[in-house]
Amino acid sequence: MTSVLLVGECDDSGSLGQPALQAITAANRLTDPEITVVIVGDLPPSVSSLPVGLVLGIPKVDESDIGIYEQATTDIFQIINRVHPDVVLFNKSDFGSLVAPRVAFRLGVVFASDCMEISNVDGSIVVTRPVFGGSALADFEVATTQSVITLRPGSFSASTETGNPSVEEFISDVTVDQRASVLDTIEESREGVRLEDANVIVSGGRGLGGPEPFSVLHDLANVLEGAVGASRAACDAGWIDHAYQVGLTGKSVTPDLYIAVGISGASQHMAGCSSSRAIVAINKDADSNIFKEARYGVVGDWEKVLPAFLSAVRDIKS
Ligand SMILES: Cc1cc2nc3c(=O)[nH]c(=O)nc-3n(C[C@H](O)[C@H](O)[C@H](O)COP(=O)(O)OP(=O)(O)OC[C@H]3O[C@@H](n4cnc5c(N)ncnc54)[C@H](O)[C@@H]3O)c2cc1C
Repeated sequence: MTSVLLVGECDDSGSLGQPALQAITAANRLTDPEITVVIVGDLPPSVSSLPVGLVLGIPKVDESDIGIYEQATTDIFQIINRVHPDVVLFNKSDFGSLVAPRVAFRLGVVFASDCMEISNVDGSIVVTRPVFGGSALADFEVATTQSVITLRPGSFSASTETGNPSVEEFISDVTVDQRASVLDTIEESREGVRLEDANVIVSGGRGLGGPEPFSVLHDLANVLEGAVGASRAACDAGWIDHAYQVGLTGKSVTPDLYIAVGISGASQHMAGCSSSRAIVAINKDADSNIFKEARYGVVGDWEKVLPAFLSAVRDIKS
């Protein structure tokens, strides 16, 4: 039996997010899993039919705890001491990326980030994660009996199974003194689908030549019900906000379709999108690295290719 504690988050609408359902699929890859889910914030009604044994709700992260998550870390740590899981799974979200290593540090156990596969091999947990900026995947055997793991969103299909778990609110008996305080928060401006949740991403790079062409990318993304992304060069140039950056120091995405427009395919960019199901590249340089990564490519000037492609997609959709 493998005891798994899975920390799930709700999306903006208060529903259990797709990454949490994907993490249930990941947990089920383990031998004879016994799954406990911790939900941060108000418990949505859908948790009562999750295919797991126990669902625990911990209080929503307080505004003053954002960025440090000390109370959330302490709550999860207490639950770990109650459940004694072999594996603690988080999604590689902002919350997971900040809390998971803190939890691993308190436990003194292995922390493996950005994992795309997980299994039991000869009694040990083995994870697969990208290395060398996403140019290769490597398997790692976890060397401690307990481990804390973050999962790359989109690496597993969302669980569609149902069950009848026990559902409890977790009341923490430890209140953490905040050692830092948040001075200001700036809401990320966003329209439509979140980059991390999008099935289709239309991403633009330095080859676009300026900020204006991103409106064409937005038009295409809207028609395809997807989201817009960008390379760091485009973000650094101030053409689009860094919230849209895909890559090693940006977001990791796993859409079904990633359309890279005027992006050279540097390893640091590919680190964030190489797990896409299909990459389509539009680039005027036939020798550009992106064509080594792309399943389909168009060698040409985006100014000619993109409007024609958008018009063709609109015709098909209408
Ligand atoms: C530590 C570190 C972390 C980094 N993290 C990231 C990261 O998270 N994300 C990221 O993206 N980068 C990251 N980078 C930067 C990365 O190395 C590249 O510099 C960057 O990805 C290049 O962006 P680009 O492809 O848009 O620009 P370029 O490399 O300049 O490529 C532009 C492309 O556009 C093509 N082009 C030009 N004009 C046209 C046209 N009219 N039509 C069609 N194609 C055209 C060109 O042929 C070229 O291939 C990082 C770098 C470092 C050192």
